[in-house]
Amino acid sequence: MKTGFLTHEHEFEWEHDPIFEDGAAIFVERCQYVEILGSHTSERYDETFYNEGPRCEEEQRVRLELTHFRTLTDDWIDVSSWRELDPKYSPIADTVRELLEEIESGRYEIDGMSVYPEPNVVTVLARGYIVMYGGNEQ
Ligand SMILES: [Zn+2]
Repeated sequence: MKTGFLTHEHEFEWEHDPIFEDGAAIFVERCQYVEILGSHTSERYDETFYNEGPRCEEEQRVRLELTHFRTLTDDWIDVSSWRELDPKYSPIADTVRELLEEIESGRYEIDGMSVYPEPNVVTVLARGYIVMYGGNEQ
């Protein structure tokens, strides 16, 4: 079967760290498909060289919502219970809100990040707090 630029199935892969925006971590995934116009095998180099044509420009956005946060020592706090949060956690919640604003505006650079495959869960370490995006299906 002939495959080509117009008929290929998009092969989305994320290439950069997520964008933190609007309480979410957003991955921009770009299609990796490149049309192969031709190839030749070099016996001298024992390698096949491909003549690459245009690259697919399609992209999609995967949006992971903020789901949990915690300090380094406490248990996870579920954001869905943010409004009826135990008052003792209010200072943490306020601090995390401010921290997220700083991260989203670029005023604070995160200290570390773990991305679980696909991606469907991201945890971010920043100033002694860990925030989780997309972690609802545990
Ligand atoms: Zn594509």
